[in-house]
Amino acid sequence: MELKLYNTLTRKKAPFVPIDANNVRMYACGPTVYDFAHIGNARPVIVFDVLYRLLRHIYGVGHVKYVRNITDVDDKINARAAEEYPDLELNAAVAEVTAKTTKQFHEDIAALGVLPPDVEPTCTSHIPQMVEMIKVLIAKGNAYEAEGHVLLDTASVPDYGSLSGRSLDEMIAGARVEVAPYKRNPSDSVMWKPSDDSLPGWPSPWGRGRPGWHIECSAMAKEHLGEVFDIHGGGIDLTFPHHENELAQSRCAHDTDVMANVWMHNGFLQVEGDKMSKSLGNFVTINELLADWPGEVLRYNMLRSHYRQPIDWTVKGLEESAKTLAGFYGGEDFSKAEKSFAPPVLEALSDDMNTPAVMTALHQLAHSDDRPALVSSLRALGFAGDLTDPRASGVDEAAIQQRIDQRLAARAAKDFAEADRIRDELAAQGIALKDGPEGTTWELVR
Ligand code: AMP
Ligand code: ZN
Repeated sequence: MELKLYNTLTRKKAPFVPIDANNVRMYACGPTVYDFAHIGNARPVIVFDVLYRLLRHIYGVGHVKYVRNITDVDDKINARAAEEYPDLELNAAVAEVTAKTTKQFHEDIAALGVLPPDVEPTCTSHIPQMVEMIKVLIAKGNAYEAEGHVLLDTASVPDYGSLSGRSLDEMIAGARVEVAPYKRNPSDSVMWKPSDDSLPGWPSPWGRGRPGWHIECSAMAKEHLGEVFDIHGGGIDLTFPHHENELAQSRCAHDTDVMANVWMHNGFLQVEGDKMSKSLGNFVTINELLADWPGEVLRYNMLRSHYRQPIDWTVKGLEESAKTLAGFYGGEDFSKAEKSFAPPVLEALSDDMNTPAVMTALHQLAHSDDRPALVSSLRALGFAGDLTDPRASGVDEAAIQQRIDQRLAARAAKDFAEADRIRDELAAQGIALKDGPEGTTWELVR
């Protein structure tokens, strides 16, 4: 079966032809680690996980290399670190924030059935490669130094704007490009910026500083996938300016026509009909959702929409997804089933990952009572046949309440040592107690 993928670069769906079928290479931009990932961030993670599974099925497990980075150098991280750990030295505070957020991200997406990528590079461990690429771009006349900054000279890049389909004028008018006096053109993006002593920084020919976001991905992709690779992915919002600049830098540095042959972008997710935003109060993290729904239900719900279409994320949709999965699961031990796509499932996936058609095929398998084909397809799609809350398993609510009551009694009797002992015992089981005006509540923190 021929795999067809839609390519943002050509605006066409076309047969996918890897550069080397023994080494199919894919890069997806990963999270900037300063806060819990929200459910919109989960979308590219799940979408490119399904593509990774499909490519492994087609080309063989050892013949696909998937790189998804961790962006651990970013001014949003610096701001969050200063706010959250005002008493720590900034570098130590940044390390706390990035380590904690990365761990949280890994836990959240594992609950969504996402496989780890083959390589998960961090920016902090690729600074020399970034500096090297910037030096090359300056030497080639595609970048210039100004007031301690190094900027991409967008006017020097042939076809700049071809990915996002924007002209230079449109980009200049766009809101997301920062106007600064040291830029030759407002569309020129920052590759390196100076850090004062209070900010994380690394030595460079342009002084102590830190890289800009776009050069980070250009350098990490080159390091792990080479100058030209097969697929580059991310959310649609990354097309401009992030991917446009990654692409421009990599092409100029390596004298190549493309950076990746196929560029894929997932559509945006909104919540109950509204754009997700903190000010609207509808900002929902993966972690919060996992407190109420099994990870598999979130995964299924995400895949009900085609990846290029917008998703409206609703409680109603989650309820329907939970019901559908419960109907599919028939008590089989999934871990014993093989992972393989039934032909109609593979056909739907091969058509630019048409997951709504995959769902139709799954329903047909369920109706025809072809249990082995249904179970092995679900497994291959990343479902483990488990609808228990990953964090709730083994929790005896009545026993917890009993211990909370005993602790209250101990406190009333001024036996604070015993009260603390009960709190610590529960904490060791991953159960955190919170004392509030309404009494004591508990929360799973595993
Ligand atoms: P960020 O950490 O903001 O760079 O985002 C990480 C990934 O999540 C990127 O691929 C974004 O395009 C994607 N993303 C962010 N918000 C949404 C959303 N509401 N819907 C779909 N994808 C999103
Ligand atoms: Zn990127």
